[in-house]
Amino acid sequence: MFPVVLCDNEIDRDGERFTVPALEKLAELFVGKTGIFNHSGRAQDQAARIFDCRVERDPERVTTAGEPYTRLKASAYLPRTEKNDGLMAELESGIKKEVSVGCAVRSVTCSVCGTDLKNGACGHERGQSYGGAVCCAVLDEPTDAYEWSFVAVPAQREAGVVKSYSGAERTENILKTLRSGETVTLTQREAARLSEKISALEREAACGRAYRAELTKEFVRCAALSKPGIPAEALRRASDGMNLDDLKCFAAAFRRDAERLVPLTPQLSGAGRETLADDSAFKI
Ligand SMILES: [Zn+2]
Repeated sequence: MFPVVLCDNEIDRDGERFTVPALEKLAELFVGKTGIFNHSGRAQDQAARIFDCRVERDPERVTTAGEPYTRLKASAYLPRTEKNDGLMAELESGIKKEVSVGCAVRSVTCSVCGTDLKNGACGHERGQSYGGAVCCAVLDEPTDAYEWSFVAVPAQREAGVVKSYSGAERTENILKTLRSGETVTLTQREAARLSEKISALEREAACGRAYRAELTKEFVRCAALSKPGIPAEALRRASDGMNLDDLKCFAAAFRRDAERLVPLTPQLSGAGRETLADDSAFKI
């Protein structure tokens, strides 16, 4: 048994989105439907079946269209047979996790002007922004659900087998979206999480800077010992241009040189102790 997200009300890769009532209708239609691979429709590819399907809302999260994020989450089962062994392993390891759905809808309209796109086009282009609103095709009034299918790249960005959905993951997703240049709407909680994440990174960066400063000191000290001709200032300038790996490498090399020139005597090295009797304090 495994949970799977079939689709949601976010704009998908095809520039389409389901309305919330459409998702509610699909929740009824998808019960009993089989999951297949790559939309091939061949009977031997049928593997899992949905036995429960419901609509889930995340009030914390707002979609591009300004609605609360809503998704269609199904529970599916898969018989434990030899034939399904491979698929089960792929599900458990997370390799097979993205799904696509096939369904029929009665209504496809332009999100900007409401034109019925089944009977013609309007001048609006999907993905373009009109007065701050991203144009997409709005899918409504589903009439049938055919299948759901494991695919390499699903149209719906977040459809797939659900592993866990933690706040940390959400923060990662927000960062990914920000990097891709898409518009992101944050709830207060998400903004707080993001700012927490930035504070944590700042603390880590401070540790990193302190480590680098220590390493630079070590590099300059050991290099000055082994190459007395080079002024410390020049060494410090040279270290500024090095990345951390190079700095580590140079510091280690000069440390070895310096140790050869000025041997360090470890406390328990044995040098200077004449007899075993001197070790008696350490005897158990
Ligand atoms: Zn339009």
